[in-house]
Amino acid sequence: MMIAEKFKESFVAAFRPVQHQILSEWADEHRRLPRGASPEPGRWRTSRTPYLKEIMDELSPHSKTQIVSVMKGTQLGITEAANNLIFGVMDQYKGPILMVMPTESVVKKHSKKKITPAIKAMPKINSIIKHSKNRGDGGSMFEKEFIGGALTMGWSNTNATFRSDSIQWLILDDVDGFPDDVDGEGSPIELGKNRTDSFGSKRKIFINSTPTVKGISNIEKEFDDSDQRYFYMPCPECSEMVHFEWGQFRITYEDYQLTDEVCFTCKHCGSLIHEHQKPWMMANGKWIPQNQGHQNAGFHISSFYSPAGWVTWDQIAREFLKALKQMETEGRVTMMKRWKNTRAAMTWEEENTEVNERVFDGRLEPYPAPVPKEVRVITAGADTQDDRIEIEVVGWGDFEESWSIDYKVINGDPKSPDTLRQLDEYLLQSFEVEGGGRMRIHAAAIDRAGHRAKYIDTFCYNKLTRRIYAVFGSPAIDTQPVTTRSTKSKYGGRIFKLGVNYLKNDIHAKVSTNAPGPNYMHYPEKECYSLEYFKQLTGERRRNDGRWEGKRPRVEAWDCRVYSLAALMLSGVKIERLTDRNIKLGVIKEVESKPKQKQKKERIKKGWVDGWK
Ligand SMILES: [Zn+2]
Repeated sequence: MMIAEKFKESFVAAFRPVQHQILSEWADEHRRLPRGASPEPGRWRTSRTPYLKEIMDELSPHSKTQIVSVMKGTQLGITEAANNLIFGVMDQYKGPILMVMPTESVVKKHSKKKITPAIKAMPKINSIIKHSKNRGDGGSMFEKEFIGGALTMGWSNTNATFRSDSIQWLILDDVDGFPDDVDGEGSPIELGKNRTDSFGSKRKIFINSTPTVKGISNIEKEFDDSDQRYFYMPCPECSEMVHFEWGQFRITYEDYQLTDEVCFTCKHCGSLIHEHQKPWMMANGKWIPQNQGHQNAGFHISSFYSPAGWVTWDQIAREFLKALKQMETEGRVTMMKRWKNTRAAMTWEEENTEVNERVFDGRLEPYPAPVPKEVRVITAGADTQDDRIEIEVVGWGDFEESWSIDYKVINGDPKSPDTLRQLDEYLLQSFEVEGGGRMRIHAAAIDRAGHRAKYIDTFCYNKLTRRIYAVFGSPAIDTQPVTTRSTKSKYGGRIFKLGVNYLKNDIHAKVSTNAPGPNYMHYPEKECYSLEYFKQLTGERRRNDGRWEGKRPRVEAWDCRVYSLAALMLSGVKIERLTDRNIKLGVIKEVESKPKQKQKKERIKKGWVDGWK
């Protein structure tokens, strides 16, 4: 060591409060994992998860690093490392702590199942906690005051979480579950970081998550803005340093079943490394930055590093094969996306190919009947404009292969009772099925956005039994496709929020499917399926940030298809689970007699007038 460096070291040491232990040492000496809340109760041992040592030590006051991020797979103990920080602060470092998790229910669970039992298991810490009602109860659920500080636990989707006083220790857990924006005040990650400003260089921010979609993932942004460390270990054969990259695993399988033990192949000598060699390798491992010199510490760790007894390579590979099967046989990527995010700790790259109407050249086919026999359920989706309603009826078969049935434009302002009467008549009709019988629309979703929300809500009021849903798209990119929990409309009835960005990703996958089978879209030889229709259907593109935007002003056909899919999902029907007896939902033997239909219409019409005046 150079003399200057030596001097610097002792200088730093002189200002370091002597009673403080570095976090990994603190955890090994003081941390107890409560029974029932941990797979390995009792004394904490950093040696079980060697990769956590450096992460924890960067979180200690001994390190100058202010921002520490971890992009991670599941079952690695990262959240326990965050808990170690909390208890280390309570016991030795002191100061205000804010822990933010995605939602209130996650926070409640974490407080009840992890934090409170852990405090009770550590008498020294329990004795410095201010108890809410009974002595020794571990403090209140969301706020734990202790001698020298306080722990506040909040959730990411309310700005109330970020109104607290200055924070020295900020833990943002599972940030890819955070919304883009909280109550119009900006990103919850930035709101949280702002709270630490007054602590200057004494602040510590710990951000962790499994990643999600490339370009949108919060943890990916944090990791990119760091020194990007990966955990390298010596190869037992050649001693060169390797890290567990997905591409180096050898998986042998037949018919999506493992046929041999999963091994890791050394990049340098080609040797096959077995999982039982992992503990030795990990004990001799070290973090190596790929972006050395950056002020933020970033760590990337996949589930392949999970310690023996938690999750095995074979288990991870079996999950991969299951996802691969779904992808290759059903054309769905949901499981693979999840696997890549939670096991490989990698972001998912959405296909970004822009589709144009030409992919539908020659797509029209003659249908033997308006509803081909493969169709099991029919839904409708309606897009509302100020001067018309456009509506599409779609038949769905196994694995969301679809058959378009009809596309209709009802001209007239949706606030006019006559326009809505025509819409209702259209939705009440039935369609002839190949091989006999007729089929009714099982569910419909009607867009309530824009200037006509009042009239659409009133129209849908009392039509929930017919599964006619008033829907609106959420602007947030990460809203779930459908939520069956509706909200109340101020005009009466219930309204349903759609995660249109997800739904559009799904429709895009269908539009891009060019061979009959799962997800493929069939079209009948009908005038309504014109070149203009297909231009609209392919009229949006996905930007690099994952959001959809229009390439042209009119895209109603695309929107209608999004609403048809939403109606299918909102109705909750699981097409592949339909038995032979109810194989076609909505099939009726004969059309109801006309007078009865008329009577029904008149009654509804009267209801509207009353409702509006
Ligand atoms: Zn080797």
